[in-house]
Amino acid sequence: MFCPFCRHPDSRVVDSRTSDDGTSIRRRRQCPNCGRRFSTTETASLNVVKRNGVLESFSREKIISGVRKACQGRPVTDGDLALLAQKVEEAVRASGTSQIEANDIGLAILPPLRELDEVAYLRFASVYQAFDSLDDFEASISQLRSEHASRPRPARSVDE
Ligand SMILES: [Zn+2]
Repeated sequence: MFCPFCRHPDSRVVDSRTSDDGTSIRRRRQCPNCGRRFSTTETASLNVVKRNGVLESFSREKIISGVRKACQGRPVTDGDLALLAQKVEEAVRASGTSQIEANDIGLAILPPLRELDEVAYLRFASVYQAFDSLDDFEASISQLRSEHASRPRPARSVDE
């Protein structure tokens, strides 16, 4: 990393801190040549391979805008969407890859979206998985239903 002021090829790290979301490290550096200070940000790279083969860097904003349409009219807040995008990024990064197919991002979106709102999930899945008949919807809905049935009911307090 060259000093941005004098182009000296070396610098000394004087402070490091991890960002609040834990995805990047900010380092404060000092140039031993001119003595000036500057900051660098270090992020593990994560690229998305689009269907046309073009690489672009992973963006939570793109996840949010992709899911927002499916959430129209649903009780989903911007905070919910931000948290969903964070979960998607964590899931993708946890796989240890630095490059992911756009298609696999869609797969990573489905589980947290389903937790968030089942109607939005069905809408998103219908586009993403290219549902082309009512049968596809029926299959997805009956899957959701059967999983509801097998999920233990929350314990209810007894009113006395
Ligand atoms: Zn310098």
